[in-house]
Amino acid sequence: MTSRVVISIRGAVQGVGFRPFIYRLASEMKLTGFIKNNSIGVIIEAEGEKRILDYFINQIREKKPSLAKITGFEFSFHEKNGYTSFQILKSEESGEISAFILPDIAICDDCLREMNNPSDRRYKYPFINCTNCGPRFSIVEAIPYDRKNTTMKNFNMCPDCQKEYNNPNDRRYHAQPVACPECGPHVELWNNNGSIIDTHHNAILKLVEFVRAGEISAVKGIGGFHLMCDAYNDEAIIKMRERKQRVDKPFALMFPSLESVKQVCNVNQLEEALLLSPDSPIVLLKRKDKSIKAPSQFIAPGNPYLGVMLPYSPLHHLIMKELNIPVIATSANISEEPMCIDEYEALDRLKNIADYFLVHNRPIKRHIDDSVVRGVKGKVMMLRRARGYAPLPIEYDTNENNKIILAMGGQLKNSIAMKVGKNVFLSQHIGDLETYEATRAYTRVIDDFKMLYKAEPELAVKDSHPDYFSTKFVDNLNIESKSIQHHIAHIASCKAENQVKGSCLGVSWDGTGYGFDKTIWGGEFFRVDENVCEHIASFRQFPLPGGETAVREPRRSALGLLYEMYGSSAFNYPVIHNNFEQKEISVLEKMLANKTNCPLTSSVGRLFDAVASILDINQIINFEGQAAMNLEFAASSNEKGVYNYYIYHNDFITIDWQPIIEEILLDSNSGMNNSIISAKFHNTLTEIIHEIAKSVNEDKIVLSGGCFQNVYLLEEVINKLETNDFNVYWHQRVPTNDGGIAFGQIIASEWNIKSKISNYK
Ligand code: ZN
Ligand code: ZN
Ligand code: FE
Repeated sequence: MTSRVVISIRGAVQGVGFRPFIYRLASEMKLTGFIKNNSIGVIIEAEGEKRILDYFINQIREKKPSLAKITGFEFSFHEKNGYTSFQILKSEESGEISAFILPDIAICDDCLREMNNPSDRRYKYPFINCTNCGPRFSIVEAIPYDRKNTTMKNFNMCPDCQKEYNNPNDRRYHAQPVACPECGPHVELWNNNGSIIDTHHNAILKLVEFVRAGEISAVKGIGGFHLMCDAYNDEAIIKMRERKQRVDKPFALMFPSLESVKQVCNVNQLEEALLLSPDSPIVLLKRKDKSIKAPSQFIAPGNPYLGVMLPYSPLHHLIMKELNIPVIATSANISEEPMCIDEYEALDRLKNIADYFLVHNRPIKRHIDDSVVRGVKGKVMMLRRARGYAPLPIEYDTNENNKIILAMGGQLKNSIAMKVGKNVFLSQHIGDLETYEATRAYTRVIDDFKMLYKAEPELAVKDSHPDYFSTKFVDNLNIESKSIQHHIAHIASCKAENQVKGSCLGVSWDGTGYGFDKTIWGGEFFRVDENVCEHIASFRQFPLPGGETAVREPRRSALGLLYEMYGSSAFNYPVIHNNFEQKEISVLEKMLANKTNCPLTSSVGRLFDAVASILDINQIINFEGQAAMNLEFAASSNEKGVYNYYIYHNDFITIDWQPIIEEILLDSNSGMNNSIISAKFHNTLTEIIHEIAKSVNEDKIVLSGGCFQNVYLLEEVINKLETNDFNVYWHQRVPTNDGGIAFGQIIASEWNIKSKISNYK
């Protein structure tokens, strides 16, 4: 299939023969399109067969001119434009773009070589960097990006560093964080009282000893602290889970090398490139079925994937080289709070979690979590956009409307976005706005964006949920505001990032979003024609006894569903009377009968929860989406069966899940394996999307919302629709979860939303 790839490459790629190199490469492969410089690097668009484009991307990385230094590499696939030749286009001239703040960049090969060279003056120096690598966004205090405006301002360069900094022919010419052991920051190892145990390289060696001995340490990195412990040590991991109050949510791992990753996980070419990229995100990788090197089962219980990253800062390289085993490297926080960035704050907040603290005196200006990505059908799918990507914009063809717009995002997995001129800047992942720490971080990020982009927002776009922190925050801004329905924001983000032109069907499935009718939506379909958006279909609603509480208790979704089907006889079903205490049952019976605190929902996320409860996979969960994830992992990919369902076509389309649930109850009672039932459930949802797509006569289908983090569902839907000649679009660079809401709010703020209130009871 022919496709178009848009590649945005940052770094020292101008004046080094890069454009002629790309031109030759593209011409050899008979690709059409163009390359042009912009002020942060180059933009390439190339058209051809997908597999040739994959090879093209690979060859750019492998064969690039030796002087070219790539510090950022993002790409996404789109429909072809019909280019007839490959051209080198004139550079874009744009003054404002040079004000881009760049993300933090993993250590480059040159610096790594120096750091490992005993005769180099920066041998084993954990703060080595150059123009092509090192911290950026995490150290900027003001613009322009100059040493005096970074957290390096209090370190006076020694004569040797100064010479490099001043020499236009040096790799460190104007590298703002340049430093050496003489003049730069250093590391110290503290105990949890803040007393110094050791300093400099000895601090690293001691840390390594402690990790080996099963201790938990907090390590100050680029955008905040990680908690680290030995990934093979069950006891250490159980201790970390207890102290961090994290029952069974998966932990991310840092491996010493690509080879060590390959002993444990399957790594394809795309995943390998992501692991090694200067953005250096966490990549979700499928575990090998059997590996003698497999880390502890307590890292990601029951999960066929592992979140894996390679060392990216020089400090991580030094630690991992000494350790030579994988470690857990998880954000140092309690539950979903932002990462700690300051050593005294870390001591205070983490003294009951970590035994040791590896700290340093280069201040971190702002928290930036590790980004999380995965590969889906040969494309990148961003799950958490932060270090390595934030705060760069997503290129998007906006109207020439020069209003500065601030998008507030949602409630969970929040991020914000700001449109300045033609650019939509996306903030780093902030987190769930449900703790004091997170709301403080939220306020800081908004102030940051105003400062970094010298912009005062004129319009605020917010979620229509009246109680979200981000919605209420708008009151502090004293500017015009506009509400965008949650699921419309999801669709807008996916449609815009995929550059979908003309009309499409948007499928927006997630856990929770505030609907036009004030009920909880989450299984929604929209028809979008350019900027006109209409809600056309949804799932039959059911009550959620306890509202918010039901999100943490899949058994309540099961109860709500069965109650909607059978009324009070729902309580006779074993899944209900076995999983609630008698006391609870009497309360729930009253709640449901009186319709108190039982909001109605059309959420597919809750449908997943209900099925997971009926199959006794999870009754109460410990982290968002856990039941749905376990239901996904249970599914057997060989099962092709589907369940019955009804679709009622009126002015508005309603999907009735009742036959699905009836059959699931029968299958489950007859002792059918959960792997078969789960697969049939996934296949049925796929079938539903296909049927709605056919009935509304749209051939472009845009998929968004948290449910599409489920790769089994996502790939089934893509396969089914593509085999039937639909064009399917899913997220690449913007998260499909609520991390993408802010971007979508900006886009949808220009949409005309049609809602027929008569559709809602
Ligand atoms: Zn470097
Ligand atoms: Zn120096
Ligand atoms: Fe959502």
